Amino acid sequence: MTDTSKLVIAIDGPAASGKSTVARKVAAELGIVFVNSGAMYRGFTWWVLENEIDPVNSLLVVELLEKTIFTCGEENRVGTLTIDGRPMGNDEFHAETVNQNVSAIAAIPEVRERLVSEQRKYAEVSGVVMEGRDIGTVVFPDTPHKFYIDASPEVREQRRRAQGIVDKIAERDKKDSSRKASPLTVADDAVVIDSSHLSADEVVAKVLTHVGG
Ligand code: C5P
Repeated sequence: MTDTSKLVIAIDGPAASGKSTVARKVAAELGIVFVNSGAMYRGFTWWVLENEIDPVNSLLVVELLEKTIFTCGEENRVGTLTIDGRPMGNDEFHAETVNQNVSAIAAIPEVRERLVSEQRKYAEVSGVVMEGRDIGTVVFPDTPHKFYIDASPEVREQRRRAQGIVDKIAERDKKDSSRKASPLTVADDAVVIDSSHLSADEVVAKVLTHVGG
């Protein structure tokens, strides 16, 4: 059995592919920390909007970034984030305005550089399952445990509708895959899992088999 305190599992994939649910369960099975990196981009997007800054004005966004203090921690083995002392929760993460603007904010290289450095700190103190778009390609390129979880566009739209969330995922995916800075791509050495016709537990089992846990 692997030493889980050093384990880094990267799970990437498009919006609503089921990667959050799977990453959370894999982390719980292994007793290590789950980190949703998308929540960090969402939290900062919320902060930009809260400060009444136009998300496409990258100069102003970067100015705000430079004076913002991020504090990443963990509670019950789940990554937490505070921005200038404000704890980020579900409302901030899933507001419709955040869905609409997060991809523009996440395309700004300075924003990525700052959040990636925060993301790497988690692995310094604990084993971690981190999910996002560039975890296997950029954040932890050296980990041997990389997964790319996909699902058909129809299934993904349906999952979002079932959650009652307004989210133009096709639009977000297009922006996330076509941006210059760390676009969503499949790492060469990632295990690709199509979750369209699998339950979350079936995907979790596949991930655990590959990790050897
Ligand atoms: O994972 P989630 O859909 O909540 O991510 C929200 C947005 O954050 C994505 O659409 C993407 O623009 C950005 N993101 C990113 N890199 C990551 C995680 C999320 O660019 N590692």
